[in-house]
Amino acid sequence: MIKIEKSDRLKQLPPYLFKEIDRQKDEEKAKGVDIIDIGVGDPDMPTPGHIIKALEKAAADKENHRYPSYTGMALFNETVARWYKKRFNVDIDSSSEAVTLIGSKEGIAHIPLAFINPGDIALCPTPGYPVYHIGTQFAGGDPYFMPLVKENDFLPDLKAIPEDICKKAKIMFINYPNNPTSACASLEFFEEVVAFANKHNIIICHDAAYTEMAFDGYKPPSFLEVDGAKEVGIEIHSLSKTYNMTGWRIAFAVGNSEVIGGLGQIKSNIDSGAFQAVQFAGIEAIEGDQTCVEEMQMEYTRRRDILSEGLTSMGLKFLPLKATFYMWVEVPEGYTSAEFTSHLLTKAGIVVTPGNGFGEPGEGYIRMALTVGVERLKEVIERMKKVGI
Ligand SMILES: *Cc1c(COP(=O)(O)O)cnc(C)c1O
Repeated sequence: MIKIEKSDRLKQLPPYLFKEIDRQKDEEKAKGVDIIDIGVGDPDMPTPGHIIKALEKAAADKENHRYPSYTGMALFNETVARWYKKRFNVDIDSSSEAVTLIGSKEGIAHIPLAFINPGDIALCPTPGYPVYHIGTQFAGGDPYFMPLVKENDFLPDLKAIPEDICKKAKIMFINYPNNPTSACASLEFFEEVVAFANKHNIIICHDAAYTEMAFDGYKPPSFLEVDGAKEVGIEIHSLSKTYNMTGWRIAFAVGNSEVIGGLGQIKSNIDSGAFQAVQFAGIEAIEGDQTCVEEMQMEYTRRRDILSEGLTSMGLKFLPLKATFYMWVEVPEGYTSAEFTSHLLTKAGIVVTPGNGFGEPGEGYIRMALTVGVERLKEVIERMKKVGI
């Protein structure tokens, strides 16, 4: 027997905040409770058929069975560049300003390895997607957390970041439309970010996973639409949410060629790129019939309306949903996030995510994901009313 000891890198990870909720969920399931799970941000609808067909065809072609190019097939990156022009009117040079990712989580986790030295800082939103700060820590860097609070429309207050932190910061992560708060950012905010990046020499990494999951005709902007954005940063996009493809692991990053190049260099030493057949399916997703995206948006709109109306009728407050499939709901008086989450689970069989699990400023909120159908959401409301909320 050898003594197996985890690295400091793993030991320093914060405790997993959803452990208690997971335990309670298993306990309720074991009792035979009919659980409604609106905790996890994973679309319940299937990948559209034409995308699956494209995978089947490409998977049968032996040309696609070999190692792919590290940074993505030229055809995929060119497709991405055409989409950026069409959707955002942003010019991308597909050979130097685009890289294919094995899901955006992969790109986010790897980018600090390219630009963070031990002791450097990455500015990370809190509450936020945990990969920003964990990727930073894995690279030996230190996260500095930028609180996203209601008083500031869930945007980071750039002026509140201390000067010495700005000096040591190498990367800033932002994410709009935002998980978990669902807040959206304007081009004016992105302009502020570009000015901040130039002033302090900080690389901007915008996680834009939800720009296509938006409602009522709202079209969230790209960070790269702002003048000078490409001089300071990149944007990361995913096919996961837009096309119900979370299991397929296909995404991309575009923007500043030096940043894209650094990320590509890390990737070429760690992975060997995304399966080409999946890239062909991705091309079909991006350039094929977009009716599926409209249908997805319509379905989430219906779900949002049911949940919003129900929550309002119970006197609960939440950020009106313009984009993403997350409702960021204030917990009622007298509960913490954990207590309210536990109450919903044990009394009503409803799984939600406690807001503080995404970071301390998320205390006082729960996140409800629109990942069950209209009928089940109606039941969520009924069950909540029954237990006196
Ligand atoms: C879902 C999500 C992604 C997408 O992740 P993939 O790895 O591409 O599946 C990225 N960022 C945020 C904030 C998300 O919520």
